[in-house]
Amino acid sequence: DTPNIVLNVNGIEVIYNHVILVLKGVSLQVPQGRIVAILGGNGAGKTTTLRAISNLLRGERGEVTKGSIELRGERIENLSPADLVQRGVVQVMEGRHCFAHLTIEENLLTGTYTRRDKAEIAANLEKVYNYFPRLKTRRTSQAAYTSGGEQQMCAIGRALMANPSMVLLDEPSMGLAPQIVEEVFNIVKDLNEREKVTFLLAEQNTNMALKYADYGYIMESGRVVMDGAASDLANNEDVKEFYLGVG
Ligand code: ATP
Repeated sequence: DTPNIVLNVNGIEVIYNHVILVLKGVSLQVPQGRIVAILGGNGAGKTTTLRAISNLLRGERGEVTKGSIELRGERIENLSPADLVQRGVVQVMEGRHCFAHLTIEENLLTGTYTRRDKAEIAANLEKVYNYFPRLKTRRTSQAAYTSGGEQQMCAIGRALMANPSMVLLDEPSMGLAPQIVEEVFNIVKDLNEREKVTFLLAEQNTNMALKYADYGYIMESGRVVMDGAASDLANNEDVKEFYLGVG
């Protein structure tokens, strides 16, 4: 049977600076408990799609001018990022965005958006350390002095401190060595399987993303040009030729 659709993006158009049409009618669905990947090259519109969902376009002088975005049936185009956190949706932005001058643990604690009791926060922190043992080792290190992989883990860990049911993850592999990318994706898979966290991730690393995702949408110039089960996409001749570097 088909799982519930948590997120339904329906034909959205996004315009930057009132004139630059960047998304030309993008539709996608994210079922409960799945890992869905948005794939495609530089400038295809992956980040813009995530920003539209988490309502982070305004700061970029962008707006959704057509279509709709629904979270569990509720229209969310006008909700603030804080409203979305309350509904269990958290975005991890591209480029990691850890606070360089704070320690790893202080960074994680900034993720406890909502006021909750100390015991709950401590339990949450332990859970994050369980999934990311590297962060536990580095808990008192200033983020600036940790590796790129540790900073990416820190950014994901901080998102988890808000107890999300769904995480939007922008380009988790960016700038990381293949082995570290694998480590990060393994943790994502673990969180998905054991904590039932739903993921929508944007990735240029098609190969890696299709290994871990359940379903993929391939974008080009602001449109979805192909979508399908990850295993089908990984075996598709066109996908192999154009996105997997296999001729
Ligand atoms: P990348 O992997 O480089 O982030 P992407 O697939 O995420 O690529 P977007 O960042 O969504 O692509 O960019 C899509 C298009 O929108 C690009 O042509 C880009 O130049 C343009 N764009 C992105 N942000 C803005 C902005 N703030 N103002 C104007 N144009 C923008």
